[in-house]
Amino acid sequence: MATYTMKFGGTSVGTPESIAAVADIVKSTLDEGHRVVVVVSAMGGVTDMLLRSMDAARRGDKWEYQSLNDKIRHKHEEVANLLLEPTPRREKLLTSITRLLDEHLQLCQAVNILGEYTPRITDSVVSFGERMSSRLVAAVLQERSVDARQMDATQLIVTDDNFQNASPLWGRTREEIARHLIPTLSNGQTPVLTGFIGATVNGTVTTLGRGGSDYSAAIFAAHSHSDELVIWTDVNGVMTTDPRIDRRAKVLPSVSYAEVGELAFYGAKVLHPKTVQPIVEMGMPVRVRNTFNPDFPGTLITARSEAAATVIKAVTVVRSVSLLTVGGRG
Ligand code: ASP
Ligand code: MG
Repeated sequence: MATYTMKFGGTSVGTPESIAAVADIVKSTLDEGHRVVVVVSAMGGVTDMLLRSMDAARRGDKWEYQSLNDKIRHKHEEVANLLLEPTPRREKLLTSITRLLDEHLQLCQAVNILGEYTPRITDSVVSFGERMSSRLVAAVLQERSVDARQMDATQLIVTDDNFQNASPLWGRTREEIARHLIPTLSNGQTPVLTGFIGATVNGTVTTLGRGGSDYSAAIFAAHSHSDELVIWTDVNGVMTTDPRIDRRAKVLPSVSYAEVGELAFYGAKVLHPKTVQPIVEMGMPVRVRNTFNPDFPGTLITARSEAAATVIKAVTVVRSVSLLTVGGRG
């Protein structure tokens, strides 16, 4: 029996079909006798919509933030209506989503009145994306007889108050994960956790920066003593370059922690740059896999660096860069 921490990104939880695929992946891993810690991003596009709602509220554009709130509601309700039978489970889920969206509207109204918002309010607002998607995915898993338990990472990842780019306080985070997450796993339950978010010691919601769900998953993997971290995404793995720029791009079967860190830092969008930090010392393997092509092995990331026949392994692109040359007599 192995424990896998599996993170599913925005496109993997973006539509009813993709959420059904996620449920199949989790269910079949459990059926093989393994344990799974599920970590989810917000449904694709929702984080951006929540951010736009803040701007609309600041400008006093009530119509715009209302309609974004409606769009987000429909996205979630569509999944619930397609993947869940009309039972109390679905009712309970829809009620919890409505409650979160009502809270979102209230925050928009507050920003509308004040005419400004702070990083702290932004974090509370964007956190709704993951809080809703995790409830949705947990309900879909329960519908398929998985003993899934939704948990907000606000009770697990304790951070400083550097809103929008908070750093975990490792001691406290380890304690909270040991207190709340490990017992859930030991009880045979499947935790479904929010990526991206945490909370300060006082319980104020924070986020780990855009794309931070990968980092959240690595933190959970490290402290739940997982055997492997699997990042489920919408491409076949870490590639030699961006396939939208060069169609000859190929999947790299394996890369080292150092290499993937460098690729992320220099612009490859495959993993949040901090992802490997929590697990490097443990040597925990990371696999990047495609939710829409689950039979493909993906890319394995470990401490080992294998020489490539071509010398250069991968090329990244950083756009909109200016180069300043500063000269002087010296
Ligand atoms: N939902 C967040 C974002 O869009 C975090 C993530 O998906 O990793 O940045
Ligand atoms: Mg991402």
